[in-house]
Amino acid sequence: MKLESILLPGVDANRPFLIAGPCSAETEEQVMTTAKALAENGVKIMRAGIWKPRTKPGGFEGIGSEGLAWLKKVKQETGMYVSTEVATQKHVYEALKYGVDLLWIGARTTANPFAVQEIAEALQGVDIPVLVKNPVNPDLELWIGALERLSNVGLTKIGAIHRGFSSYDKKIYRNLPQWHIPIELKRRYPDLPIICDPSHIGGKRDLIQPLCQQAMDLAFDGLIIETHCNPEAAWSDASQQVTPARLKEILASLVIRDKGQSTEDLSDLRRQIDELDNQLLELLAKRMRVSKEIATFKKEHSLTVVQTGRYDEIMNTRVAQAAEMGMDKDFMRVVLEAIHEESVRQQVEILNK
Ligand code: PEP
Ligand code: MN
Repeated sequence: MKLESILLPGVDANRPFLIAGPCSAETEEQVMTTAKALAENGVKIMRAGIWKPRTKPGGFEGIGSEGLAWLKKVKQETGMYVSTEVATQKHVYEALKYGVDLLWIGARTTANPFAVQEIAEALQGVDIPVLVKNPVNPDLELWIGALERLSNVGLTKIGAIHRGFSSYDKKIYRNLPQWHIPIELKRRYPDLPIICDPSHIGGKRDLIQPLCQQAMDLAFDGLIIETHCNPEAAWSDASQQVTPARLKEILASLVIRDKGQSTEDLSDLRRQIDELDNQLLELLAKRMRVSKEIATFKKEHSLTVVQTGRYDEIMNTRVAQAAEMGMDKDFMRVVLEAIHEESVRQQVEILNK
């Protein structure tokens, strides 16, 4: 599946493939005002949530089918294509009935294989693009499983949306980007179009521009950006939506780098990276060998594999050292935890021999 496969007629193939529009359709006036401003900016595909999965009851759960008539009016009056999220068979039938041009499956729905299967079956024989958001939890297989369910019923215009992953400790982001997960998806399915949703990753207006640039630098095919005529007054996700004017500025600011073949200079630098990775792997293997010698010693002296004090000391000294060397502390912690986990696994193998 190439990016071309999800392009609707008249939408060009230059990056970024763009979808913009409010988190939710709220009123006819809000939908039409936003739509007109977007169309004037050259946006070709509008988004608007009609059914909203909210974490807790009592929030705005979407206007429902009534809003589909507004989207139809958007098509008629602006010529833009329209898109919305579907979470059940009924949503699919309703959206198709009103001529919605592109559908996506939301993060909470992707996490539920029964729901995805039901939607896939409702979409059988339908020829419009369907995009699958990553599941809320960082599970690449679950994401791929949902894409496969759509492909298994014969859909061909399939793409993915990266919207970040929820985590217990919230820091800068509403949903952690964990870029390595969509990058691994791209590695496994090089032709699958993947677009980025900076709005749900960032959760804050100020983060939209840098996230868009990062997505472009990581060779994502497109962007889906929540855009509202009056963001502060939005009925859902108010803090992350931008105005159509701000959207225009963001798009104009993006540097779109060539994702094609590298130049000579780049291949030279890449050779250096290959060499450094080689050295890293050899060093890691060497570290594992020493760790196995320690395991043999522990076995002979009946010691436990994990010696908490020692692990603590390794963490603290290495993390501090990494920070001095200009690396992020959290990054170093993740690396050390992974190394420690593999080291423990190899030691346990020896102890149980
Ligand atoms: C949305 O797109 O408004 C939405 C609900 O997103 P997600 O499924 O990524 O939470
Ligand atoms: Mn939203």
